[in-house]
Amino acid sequence: MKNLNRYVLLPIMLLCVTMTYAQHDHSSHGGSHTTHVEQPPNGGVIKEAGKYKIEMVANMFLKKDQLRFYLFKGNFRAILNEGITGTITIKSNDKKTSTQSLQAKGNDFFVAQLQNSGSFQATVKFIIKGKTVSTVFIQNGIGHHSSASYTCSMHPEVKSDTFGTCPKCGMNLEKQ
Ligand SMILES: [Zn+2]
Repeated sequence: MKNLNRYVLLPIMLLCVTMTYAQHDHSSHGGSHTTHVEQPPNGGVIKEAGKYKIEMVANMFLKKDQLRFYLFKGNFRAILNEGITGTITIKSNDKKTSTQSLQAKGNDFFVAQLQNSGSFQATVKFIIKGKTVSTVFIQNGIGHHSSASYTCSMHPEVKSDTFGTCPKCGMNLEKQ
């Protein structure tokens, strides 16, 4: 049993040490004085919220009409979602407003479900250690549905998102 402990524990300890170093490395990098442009870590949109940053990811690679939110400290160090609650109030372009709880997923993000993929304004609120952190995102559609890109050269009011023929004159539609 002693031998087993040595073989199991040593690699785990080494891994912990390596991870601690990696995190240190990351934070010192974020605090450096270089004037690099900060890239959203998950390809979303970043908003400042007090001393925190909130990233909203809304794109076609996620489940249909899903929004993801990531929380960061000022230097882009991820904050784990454990113990944090949040709500989102979505005002869609048809003026409807709805509020839902943000669901904690994985260990560092939250999800919300949209009713449709149109434009919206989202007020996101997190409660972190008893303090409310809030910001507003504005999104102009998500792009699950490709916009109409084919039309008839004789009938510009005819629009289709797939290649085909004009229902009025039968001509082949042209790409816009
Ligand atoms: Zn036509």
